[in-house]
Amino acid sequence: MKVYEFNVKTKLPDKLRPLEMIAHNLWYSWNWEARELFRMISMELWEQCEHNPVWMLSKLTDKDFRRLVGDPVFMNFMDNVYERLNEYRMLPKWFDLAHSGKREEGMQIAYFSAEYGIHESVKLYSGGLGVLSGDHCKSASDLGLPFVAVGLLYRNGYFHQYLNSDGWQQQSIPYNEFHRMPVSPVKDKDGNSIYVKVRIAENDVDVKVWKMEVGGITLYLLDTDLISNTPQNRGITAQLYGGDSDLRMKQEIILGIAGVRALKAIGIKPTVFHLNEGHPSFAALERIRQYVEDGMGLRHAAEVVKKSTLFTTHTPVPAGFDVFSFEQIKKYLGPIFEPSGFNINQIMGFGRENPFNESEDFAMAIAGIRLSTFRNGVSALHGEVSRQMFKNLWSNALDGHVPIGHVTNGVHLPTFIAESFKAIYTRYLSEAWYYKPYDFAVWQDIEKIPDNAFFEAKRKQRERLVLFARERLKKQVMKRGGTASEITKADDVLNTDTLTIGFARRFATYKRGYLLFMDEERLAKILNNPEKPVQIIIAGKAHPKDDGGKEIIKKIFHICRKPEFRDKIVFIEDYDIEVARHLAHGVDIWLNTPLRPMEASGTSGMKIAANGGLNLSILDGWWAEGYNGETGWAIGAGEEYDRQEYQDFVESMELYDKLENEIIPLFYNRDRVGIPREWTHMMKQAVKVCAAFFNTSRMVVDYTDKYYVPLHELYADISPNGFEGAAKYLDWKDNVIGGWSDMEIIETNVYAESLEMGGSVTFEARVRSPKIASESYAVYAVVEFDGESGKLTNPEFIRLDFAENGGDVSTYKADFRIENAGKMKVAFAVVPCHKYLKNIFELNLVMWAK
Ligand SMILES: *Cc1c(COP(=O)(O)O)cnc(C)c1O
Repeated sequence: MKVYEFNVKTKLPDKLRPLEMIAHNLWYSWNWEARELFRMISMELWEQCEHNPVWMLSKLTDKDFRRLVGDPVFMNFMDNVYERLNEYRMLPKWFDLAHSGKREEGMQIAYFSAEYGIHESVKLYSGGLGVLSGDHCKSASDLGLPFVAVGLLYRNGYFHQYLNSDGWQQQSIPYNEFHRMPVSPVKDKDGNSIYVKVRIAENDVDVKVWKMEVGGITLYLLDTDLISNTPQNRGITAQLYGGDSDLRMKQEIILGIAGVRALKAIGIKPTVFHLNEGHPSFAALERIRQYVEDGMGLRHAAEVVKKSTLFTTHTPVPAGFDVFSFEQIKKYLGPIFEPSGFNINQIMGFGRENPFNESEDFAMAIAGIRLSTFRNGVSALHGEVSRQMFKNLWSNALDGHVPIGHVTNGVHLPTFIAESFKAIYTRYLSEAWYYKPYDFAVWQDIEKIPDNAFFEAKRKQRERLVLFARERLKKQVMKRGGTASEITKADDVLNTDTLTIGFARRFATYKRGYLLFMDEERLAKILNNPEKPVQIIIAGKAHPKDDGGKEIIKKIFHICRKPEFRDKIVFIEDYDIEVARHLAHGVDIWLNTPLRPMEASGTSGMKIAANGGLNLSILDGWWAEGYNGETGWAIGAGEEYDRQEYQDFVESMELYDKLENEIIPLFYNRDRVGIPREWTHMMKQAVKVCAAFFNTSRMVVDYTDKYYVPLHELYADISPNGFEGAAKYLDWKDNVIGGWSDMEIIETNVYAESLEMGGSVTFEARVRSPKIASESYAVYAVVEFDGESGKLTNPEFIRLDFAENGGDVSTYKADFRIENAGKMKVAFAVVPCHKYLKNIFELNLVMWAK
């Protein structure tokens, strides 16, 4: 049977046109009034349409239109929300104040990511990485950055999870109806949809370019599901992280290569490219190819690309990176790159630790690192782990100075803070917390919030969470075919005033979802203490291919059904942004038990802290920075063990101990009016310390100041006269590499009157450099206190100043004030120096004084 399908567009009366504008801007995902507007139309429809305003508008009838237009309260509310959206877009923002003139210079950031988690209604994400990218976009909008994002428009969302009557995870794949999504095709100036082409093996694949408005910025989304493509190629953008390695590679070709082509077709000229994780690394190769096609040499082109690229890694283990074989690269990149004069070995070289090692595959992360000027991990600890992981790329760098930095992740506060807390913050901190969350001073007034107001707001949110959990549980039981009494019982689970622990995350084995359940008897005692009860809400998906993860879920499911746990532990199925938000608002304690250092950052705990919740977590990822003794609790002290079973045992015992001896007594230690004063004090510290720092405004400000603006300036500097600056830099580099071995440190000295704290020393070095001009190298005294003798790991580099010159020998000197006591280790080093070199060890050239 042939079925024709057409999308019939809703036609809203002119007076209701603002609704369409509001529904098509993801601003609604962090604006409560905008969502309220749609709830006002019909609560029932809002739920039915899964909080998707575009879908909802398509369901409205003429009768609804007449009702709304005739309702002055609604019309007034709508006009207000619309005005606020316009106001939001027009408002002067941080970027133009902090970096005035940059926009006019043409600064433009392009951010590439494989997934975006912006709102539960837009299913283009699977978990943490996506939510982070979404929050990055929202803050880029709030801060007014010249910023566009690029991603894939998946036909299917990440799977919905439900459990069968045995607790075994089942998956159903949601289908994304694009006409029900807040996306629209990008049009050229003649009103035609924009397509780009990419060759995938034997076929040219057409790629349609869509756009989605996120506040003031645009997210461009690529789609291959077009009738002009073969069925197989239509399926490239079918599913997030679906399929085998070949499909993954094709997706990454679309994201990176079609992504760069799409921006060009639209007429966007980025000066800064931000590759978020390895998935979009082909973008850098495509840029090189385009320059080469325009007549530039390969090395020159690679340098230009490098000088305008930032690479962010999110993985703490090498196994987490996509790797492609020589055969795959030949099969898929060959047809794209060979016609432009590339050979496959050249391409492979970009993705290998050692470009000439033919047994090495092509790693997307290595390509990202090689073709960028700045690279970063996503927490201080993850920065360290990343430097360790990639140190082979800089064999001469000291561990602490491998050129990979970090910017710790954050969350978008307006998206994840409950309205009742927003109101309190606004009342006591003014709206500054909303408009300038990156300003630490704003958060100091948290102390002014009355304890009872804060604790009461939490109680209200806990109540909402309990109601939400019951509602979900009822639906889950019904879906599973539970009995009537089981369904009724769902109304009795959990309690509004009970200390509530949340645990929600992907059930990957390293996250150790089982740790809380290691000693069921002890847990039962804790939960069922009549004076001081505790309850737990759990959520999380296992990867469809991860049976180990599914086993953990099944085990928890069966524990939840035991009589001693039935009313106390609830598993909410289908963890997504909506569930995450409810949990963040309502839980008192957020539990996280990863195997350190497997959690690169984690962000869910930040959402909890912003709502006055306290974290109880392994000192891993962000929590190693956020924990200060008052913001929550640590499990362990950051140890790493060799025997995991033993570690599980030790850490689960500590978890129970902390609950029994510290957390539960503190929560139930009430004053005369029923307020737990010390607990409330900690709630405030969580906000004051964690929300103030672990938010995406601070994060995007950091990215902008540390990386985006310097990259833009670098790119602007090398651009004139056909990127002459990059060519000259390469000549300089060749000269330095050629003359390096003739360089000699002939003498070094350390003078001090007396070695004591507060005293001063003079460092001196004499350097003979017959081939390299003195402005092309820098001489450093390298100073470290304590640590292993004879070894430097993360020392301070003190640049010595040119003092005098005699023939080809120059003397360099600097005074240094000693601010520490203890063992002081000093070494001397010469490294290349150029204004385009952003890291001491970038060229992997260093000469140490013998
Ligand atoms: C915030 C969030 C995450 C991130 O969770 P972590 O466990 O901290 O990595 C994952 N999924 C969803 C739906 C989220 O909202």
